[in-house]
Amino acid sequence: MKRTRRDLIRTAAAAGAGVTLAGGSAGAQAGPKVLFEAARTTIPIVGTTDVFAVRRIYCIGRNYAAHSREMGSDPNREPPFFFQKPTDAVQNVKIGEVADHPYPSLTKNYHYEVELVAALKSGGRNIPIDKALDHVFGYAVGLDMTRRDLQQAMGNEKKPWEIGKSFDKSAPLGPLHPVEKVGHFTKGAITLEVNGQVKQKADLSYMLWSVAEQISKLSEANELFPGDIIYSGTPENVGPVVKGDVILCKIEKLPDMSVKIV
Ligand code: MN
Repeated sequence: MKRTRRDLIRTAAAAGAGVTLAGGSAGAQAGPKVLFEAARTTIPIVGTTDVFAVRRIYCIGRNYAAHSREMGSDPNREPPFFFQKPTDAVQNVKIGEVADHPYPSLTKNYHYEVELVAALKSGGRNIPIDKALDHVFGYAVGLDMTRRDLQQAMGNEKKPWEIGKSFDKSAPLGPLHPVEKVGHFTKGAITLEVNGQVKQKADLSYMLWSVAEQISKLSEANELFPGDIIYSGTPENVGPVVKGDVILCKIEKLPDMSVKIV
């Protein structure tokens, strides 16, 4: 059989890879050995032992008018903007548990932000708004935990506010609920309590940019892929917690999610 150019390249690549395999057996098809492999971040899915592998965590900023105002912005003139958290910022919280959540280093003003999280099963570029929800696998209740003092200080200095948002365990969330079971979320109560006292209370319909619009907008900036999750923004009345506080997050149609600051 005539060997194509592609066959030759493949053979050469396999031979090259073989060289790097310490003690690799002849004819092994394995690629280069990966040193110090990072653990993959996954999120449990309700009703199954399967898990959702996280590729990227996107978060929208100032997506409720009243929260935008409390952060010092004019919601009517601001297009949506996004930031990311590292995937290993995920802290999986089981239904019915109160998970210990460590108070992070460096901050003296640690804030809660309850948010609806959408998880994608497919992606693409320039996704139209009317096709965007076809890419959603499911939803979860999430917390976008924030070192508010550092976020604001960095913002004031026109520096990236990553240290305020993108740190270890800054993304607690409950398990994913597939769309087939819970549908999509365009309205419904979203609330957060601290030690039994209501702090945040709004409705998902108050979002400035819907989940569909967020997916569409994000796909203009980056190609989206299965495994991407999107924190869809928090309502007004964000505030601080200290060690010992218990946060309870509620979104209509989803089980509650709760953490204790330790
Ligand atoms: Mn947020």
